[in-house]
Amino acid sequence: MSVSESKANGPSHRSVAAGLAEVRSRIVRAALDARRAPGDIALVCVSKTFDADAILPALEAGERMFGENRVQEAEGKWPALKARFPGVELHLIGPLQSNKAREAVALFDVIETVDRVKIAETLAHEMQRAQRFPKLFVEINTGAEPQKAGILPQNADAFLTDCRQRLGLKIAGLMCIPPASELASPHFALLASIARRNGLAGLSMGMSADFELAIQCGATHVRVGSAIFGSRATPAG
Ligand SMILES: *Cc1c(COP(=O)(O)O)cnc(C)c1O
Repeated sequence: MSVSESKANGPSHRSVAAGLAEVRSRIVRAALDARRAPGDIALVCVSKTFDADAILPALEAGERMFGENRVQEAEGKWPALKARFPGVELHLIGPLQSNKAREAVALFDVIETVDRVKIAETLAHEMQRAQRFPKLFVEINTGAEPQKAGILPQNADAFLTDCRQRLGLKIAGLMCIPPASELASPHFALLASIARRNGLAGLSMGMSADFELAIQCGATHVRVGSAIFGSRATPAG
């Protein structure tokens, strides 16, 4: 990459466009290999840690689905980008604290990290208050990792019933982040089976390293960051 192409604080316009084109074609190939319609797989471009300048090429290329993992960071860049590019669907993919639920409901169109009773209750309350209803995904801790957020697989059915019946929440699907050290496919298959028996259509699974595998296992949403925007300067989420 020449000096003129590179930027101090992010990837070049051309590298984002190229990364995006590559990811797009890999999604199509993976879908066709799995005998699925490529249009049934939504690409969530994970733009966390990248500033508006780095995100612009993806918006200009027509992408409208983006993922951020911190409410405050998203508040700093997305209101202006949303105003400029109608039709953006912003996904929260990081843990949500109760004291940020109001802001999250106001800004995000999809909240993928409903991961405990308390946050489900808070979201139900804030959504009613604001009369704004982001789509909700429940995060499942498929690897039962103690340090990771999410509902344990054995508690998933009861949690989903509680969300739907007691709290009146519409749940669009499930999301997971498999343990980094393990083969992801059993985790993807587990998520798909929990979704199936609970009548949920949405499956948010697969990141840069494994989105093709996730598509093979039925992903409806893949969350891809570094394969589009390049590696992140600081680890986030
Ligand atoms: C950062 C992040 C991603 C994207 O990860 P990449 O490996 O950069 O594609 C996906 N999902 C979640 C929840 C994330 O925090």
